[in-house]
Amino acid sequence: MASPVVRFLREKLAEAGCSVEPHPERAPFFHVRHCDQSVAGGFVPTEGVVVCHNHLTSKEEVEHALAHELIHAYDHCRAKNLDWTDCKHHACSEVRAAALSGDCSWKQELLRGRMGLSAQFRSCVRRRAVLSCELNPNCGSTVGARRAVDAVFEKCIADTDPFDRLP
Ligand SMILES: [Zn+2]
Repeated sequence: MASPVVRFLREKLAEAGCSVEPHPERAPFFHVRHCDQSVAGGFVPTEGVVVCHNHLTSKEEVEHALAHELIHAYDHCRAKNLDWTDCKHHACSEVRAAALSGDCSWKQELLRGRMGLSAQFRSCVRRRAVLSCELNPNCGSTVGARRAVDAVFEKCIADTDPFDRLP
């Protein structure tokens, strides 16, 4: 967990009162598991972050997956009324996780300095957020997931907290 983004998020979680660091009186926050669903990982409010070793092949993928799930953990920490069964709440956190975790960053890197928040970056964030929301039964369907992501997209992609800007 040496990635600067992961380290930064762990620090911000601790500052926000939701430390994920090992502690003798708490169950471990990070879990490495074999996952049947084709996902890189997940955030379970009662357990913490799960990373799926059978779907992650490189160190970079592991770092992106950790950063992604830590964004969810941060959202869960800062918004005391976040309701994961509400598809729009979930969609907002997925937009932020896709935008801030580096999941879409190679495209961002490619285009940085020319177009700012490029169309490719935005469509990558949107596509990944929809894919994640489709796994939430409360979103209903692909159409429901798309609708929820569209409804919150602009507001949530602009919200880079705890980063000053897109990392
Ligand atoms: Zn996610």
